[in-house]
Amino acid sequence: MTYDFCIIGGGIVGLATAMNIAERQPGASLIVLEKESSLGQHQTGHNSGVIHSGIYYAPGSLKADLCRRGAESTKNFCRQHGIPFETCGKLLVATNAIEKQRMDALFERSIKNGIKVERLDAAELRRREPEIVGVGALFVESTGIVDYRRVANAMADVIRKQGGTIELGAAVTSIDESSTEVAIAAGERRFTAKRLIACAGLQSDRIAKLAGVKIDHEIVPFRGEYYQLPAARNGIVQHLIYPIPDPELPFLGIHLTRMIDGGVTVGPNAVLGLAREGYPKLSINVRDVADFIRFPGFWKVIRKNLKSGIYEMRNSLWKTGYLAECRKYCPSLSVEDLLPYEAGIRAQAVQKDGTLIHDFLFVETERMLHVCNAPSPAATSAIPIGGVIAAKITKQNDFESAAKL
Ligand SMILES: Cc1cc2nc3c(=O)[nH]c(=O)nc-3n(C[C@H](O)[C@H](O)[C@H](O)COP(=O)(O)OP(=O)(O)OC[C@H]3O[C@@H](n4cnc5c(N)ncnc54)[C@H](O)[C@@H]3O)c2cc1C
Repeated sequence: MTYDFCIIGGGIVGLATAMNIAERQPGASLIVLEKESSLGQHQTGHNSGVIHSGIYYAPGSLKADLCRRGAESTKNFCRQHGIPFETCGKLLVATNAIEKQRMDALFERSIKNGIKVERLDAAELRRREPEIVGVGALFVESTGIVDYRRVANAMADVIRKQGGTIELGAAVTSIDESSTEVAIAAGERRFTAKRLIACAGLQSDRIAKLAGVKIDHEIVPFRGEYYQLPAARNGIVQHLIYPIPDPELPFLGIHLTRMIDGGVTVGPNAVLGLAREGYPKLSINVRDVADFIRFPGFWKVIRKNLKSGIYEMRNSLWKTGYLAECRKYCPSLSVEDLLPYEAGIRAQAVQKDGTLIHDFLFVETERMLHVCNAPSPAATSAIPIGGVIAAKITKQNDFESAAKL
């Protein structure tokens, strides 16, 4: 049979897209192809589990809008499907005068983004979080926590209930677009669909190239390494504790994150990954390394970020250095508090000229839409992102019920 829609990738973006299409076009036939034996095994299942409120992003940008709407949709989806989440709030802590200045700028930005934020002085911060020190803080009440793998699995249930098919263990190996359909192979298995949507995260550049799409970026993997606090220290904070981000760096900095299972993680940092999907420390994949070594954009990123890269690498190999980052705002932590925890790996899209792509990037052909970049907070924003993609692809769709939209 020829499906109306085929979606590659059983991460939260692929599933949210499939769910949105199934809801918009209940009669459409739809299949999700995921190469792993379960859903959400990569970025979706290896992240901080934070429902971001969207204070960081440029006011009026798609990222800010999707995040604000996404936080609400995620919480509503969890309520409807009995998935535990908690709106525990987050504190962004400034530890010196420069960070205080950045904190004030962030406060202005959150107001423009329409997000309720409270400014705290050092004494009020101490009162709310006795283990945390700083010269001031912002309190974002609406930030929450959830297990995104559970969210992804609940989305899959919705898709199946609507008649959609989810094929696990289906690693896509070839894609052929013609004027009437797209032929997809996953090893020996063959599928055809009128439209293809690729949401392949860490493999998104390879899937685009496999489909013959011209792109001038590549995915460079950045590991985000975490530790976990011992259970006896789980009560150390009541909120999520974040540093004030350095505007020069693309990542948010090492934070203390309460997890929905009651644990507390410390992290993540950001170091170059030697394997796109290898989670243990020192994982190496020869193809992954060869790909970024051959890519000119990679060397430009390294040159531009040499100092911070060496610093991050040093802290990755030297626990005391890593600890020093969190002790800036939580001085009672000790090396013994940092227990092993699985890393996450970010799919960082980098252009040939060395520019890091921070926004969503979609590349469309007549019958395909490739999600080439879905950076953090794409887990939070997944439901409205799925809506945007579904609107784009169903508008193109020649399926008869498109007329109903
Ligand atoms: C360390 C870290 C912390 C983060 N923290 C947060 C946070 O707290 N809050 C937040 O909102 N966001 C966070 N993010 C970002 C968020 O997790 C990602 O943006 C989001 O999960 C991206 O989802 P995705 O579906 O695009 O990718 P993925 O979850 O990576 O899914 C892609 C899927 O495609 C599949 N695939 C790839 N190739 C093929 C193929 N050939 N055939 C079939 N299937 C294939 C993969 O197996 C995978 O399941 C974090 C990310 C990281 C790495």
